[in-house]
Amino acid sequence: MRVVLLGPPGAGKGTQAVRIAQEADIPHIATGDMFRQAVREETSLGLEVKRYLDAGRLVPDEVTVGIVRERLARPDCREGFILDGFPRTVPQAEALDGVLAGLGMKLDRVVSLVVGTEALVRRLAGRRVCGGCGTSFHVELNPPQEEGRCDRCGGVLVQRDDDREETVRERLAVYERQTAPLVDYYRRHGLLVEVDGEQPPDAVTRAIRQAVGNGFPAGSGSGGIESRQ
Ligand code: ADP
Ligand code: ADP
Ligand code: ZN
Repeated sequence: MRVVLLGPPGAGKGTQAVRIAQEADIPHIATGDMFRQAVREETSLGLEVKRYLDAGRLVPDEVTVGIVRERLARPDCREGFILDGFPRTVPQAEALDGVLAGLGMKLDRVVSLVVGTEALVRRLAGRRVCGGCGTSFHVELNPPQEEGRCDRCGGVLVQRDDDREETVRERLAVYERQTAPLVDYYRRHGLLVEVDGEQPPDAVTRAIRQAVGNGFPAGSGSGGIESRQ
């Protein structure tokens, strides 16, 4: 199963990708997580990308494609992968096609999570992420069992720097300008399935399972709202 999860900031890509990756036993490749880790560890990549993350703008395509190319070449991606937050521009999508062709692979499906602006703003404002394992929570919509603590690993929950209001506005604008054109790109390639991302998390997971159907055992994917283009 070789899948891309597409959607604006706050659409639920990370939340869903973790679940699908676990169920299908494939790696979850999230460029945002890779960049944040590099910033935390102050590697040369981290120093290079920090200013883009802080400003809510996209890291240059060459840098981003470089780290994804390296990641996809690793042996654990042979049986499939789920890409979360990549590609985010048409040139990145074209580069991905080339990288995969070089590995003798191609994408099976692109799932676009559709969520309205009002819901996105609310989700990003209340998002808290685990400093240990990266799991996303929400202070109201998806609270942890113990306030400020991760259910999965007990780590401390923090607000992402770029989830502050001004940066959120910039990221949503960047999505519209640079990433939304990918919806048409993948529709033209016959890979796109749109999923209603405003449903409760479990219903979204069911709809994604159905959309990527072939990667799961028969019968496991049902329910949810889904439209195939
Ligand atoms: P993305 O990776 O697309 O930016 P996240 O998965 O981090 O999005 O989700 C953004 C926020 O919305 C998080 O606080 C998360 O807990 C919450 N969230 C995710 N999916 C849903 C959903 N289906 N309904 C309500 N809140 C959700
Ligand atoms: P979200 O979950 O809110 O959609 P991400 O964690 O995916 O955000 O990305 C956070 C930041 O990392 C982006 O604002 C951008 O600066 C950078 N980034 C992540 N993925 C890419 C990409 N594919 N191309 C360029 N920049 C990226
Ligand atoms: Zn955790």
